[in-house]
Amino acid sequence: MHNSLAQFSEKFPLIPFLQRAEPAFWLNNQVNDAQNYPFSMEMVHDAEARLQRFAPYFEVAFPEMRELQGIIESPIIDIARMKSYLESSNHIKIEGNLLLKCDHALPIAGSVKARGGIYEIIKHAESLAFEHGLLSIEDDYRKLNNEEFRQFFKNYKIAVGSTGNLGLSIGIISAKLGFDVTVHMSMDAKEWKKQLLRTLGVTVVEYEADYSEAVRQGRLEAEQDATCHFVDDENSLDLFAGYAVAALRLKAQLDAKNITVNKENPLFVYIPCGVGGAPGGISYGLKQLYGPDVHIFFAEPTQSPCMLLGMMTGLHDEIDVAQIGLTNITEADGLAVGRASKFVGAQMETIVSGCYTVEDSFLFESLREMFSSEHIFMEPSAHAGFFGPVQLARKGEMYLDTHGLKPFMQNAHHLVWSTGGNLVPNEWRNKYLQK
Ligand SMILES: *Cc1c(COP(=O)(O)O)cnc(C)c1O
Repeated sequence: MHNSLAQFSEKFPLIPFLQRAEPAFWLNNQVNDAQNYPFSMEMVHDAEARLQRFAPYFEVAFPEMRELQGIIESPIIDIARMKSYLESSNHIKIEGNLLLKCDHALPIAGSVKARGGIYEIIKHAESLAFEHGLLSIEDDYRKLNNEEFRQFFKNYKIAVGSTGNLGLSIGIISAKLGFDVTVHMSMDAKEWKKQLLRTLGVTVVEYEADYSEAVRQGRLEAEQDATCHFVDDENSLDLFAGYAVAALRLKAQLDAKNITVNKENPLFVYIPCGVGGAPGGISYGLKQLYGPDVHIFFAEPTQSPCMLLGMMTGLHDEIDVAQIGLTNITEADGLAVGRASKFVGAQMETIVSGCYTVEDSFLFESLREMFSSEHIFMEPSAHAGFFGPVQLARKGEMYLDTHGLKPFMQNAHHLVWSTGGNLVPNEWRNKYLQK
């Protein structure tokens, strides 16, 4: 950072709030501006088609995929009880209704990482199999679930750096296909995630350092081996495309519920953000489909606001939360990222309406409430979205004014994007519930 911190705070008055780890609400005034993306919806449709080709494989490889016809998807549901709770406990009124996108329940990996992570690995597997003449696009992909293919993929390595859930997603699908897979885990990663991966035959390397360092080490190791594919959470277009498929699926789900999105019926979406890949991909897709009628907010822990800081200052990956004195320590392990992805941050400049931060204590309150009133368990990171409607009600006046939304708020749909939880073992669930 070239500026001194004092000059910096003068330019960005929100910085002192961030430094004191107070919940902040930042609005992006470039949202909906024109932009050239290094990316297209064609890539998203291509990803959706590839996931469809692999559906028969998923059905035979993972028993839980049978009733889903091999499609890795989660429902959206109405959560009126949670809405009442948020209103009464925070003394606010949420105009419109509150919906939950249930990615905590995504099959195979139990988190939002299932779409992107699994997509990147099947794309890699498919291209290797094509190259070696073992598979063609017309084939029945169920054949990938046999020993011949597992022996073939054993000759290839996969590596990834993760705070936990991306590692789970990559590890589970790679091990199933037969790849030799290594997950580089940051210090935030929970013990049960490492154990689960080891029981599947995945090599887990542990670091006493944060996410950025685990990624760096993984990338270094992978670079020395031509047979190794590194899943680059900070730069991967394949991950991004896989995540973006969620937008196409969401639109179909909203259509099926007769939920229209337009100027008079705005859609607000609140998504937890770590390095930015998952929320970035989803948001890119939603913006392409809904334009200025979708209003997307990213949620981060008060100790890890890397995307807020990167976007507000325009420095993206050139600034780390440590540079403003924050610890990057949070129980929201999936969001414990100190430095955002440059690639994603730059894309979000015209897509995201704003970012806000949330305290860990809110996440645990929300976790208990969702479990008791809606009977849904979501891991701490996944609760960051619920603070969005609260912040919008408290601090969003200017945003609603600027965008002419006030007359239409009673028609608004607020969609909280849940991001993980289904694989959390009972012992850990109880620990979280008692926190
Ligand atoms: C990874 C993750 C996120 C955020 O995704 P990023 O791609 O890191 O921004 C949110 N919630 C959970 C539970 C996650 O595992």
